[in-house]
Amino acid sequence: MMGFKRFCNRLRWWLSKPFVVIRNFFFLKRYPFWAFVYPDSKGKRRTAYDSTWYDDIPEGWKKAFGKEMSERIRKALIDEYGKRFPKRAVEICEVKEKYGELRIYASAPDRVLDILDEYETRSFHHCIYCGEKSTKYTLGWILPVCEKHAKGKDCKDIEENIDA
Ligand SMILES: [Zn+2]
Repeated sequence: MMGFKRFCNRLRWWLSKPFVVIRNFFFLKRYPFWAFVYPDSKGKRRTAYDSTWYDDIPEGWKKAFGKEMSERIRKALIDEYGKRFPKRAVEICEVKEKYGELRIYASAPDRVLDILDEYETRSFHHCIYCGEKSTKYTLGWILPVCEKHAKGKDCKDIEENIDA
């Protein structure tokens, strides 16, 4: 039996969900490739609605090009398969930051992989915290930052000529 306190906690948790779930439902309707897919207890593939891979993109980068990147992937899938492109045409298995760049590991058509590559390069030129143009990167853990977010951190200048 579930204790009363645990029941209350569970209830509170569920009541906080609907907004996120409804938002993700519509978000994934347009951008199904961001879906987090997991096997249920019977091994059937299910889509999670309480979180998506898109949530794993750092805030600044979402602000700088998240929408644009999503639209371009969608467009590429429509070009490849037509308007009703398969929901699982792109399967993402990891989204993370590595050496100051956005990395999205996925199995996808080449034209989508090209877009992901492009944003991998571009991400270094946007502040990971706010999305503004990055002028420096932090040392130690390499992260691109704008002037404001470079304050008080050990940084090195980003040279213009490496701009892609
Ligand atoms: Zn910034």
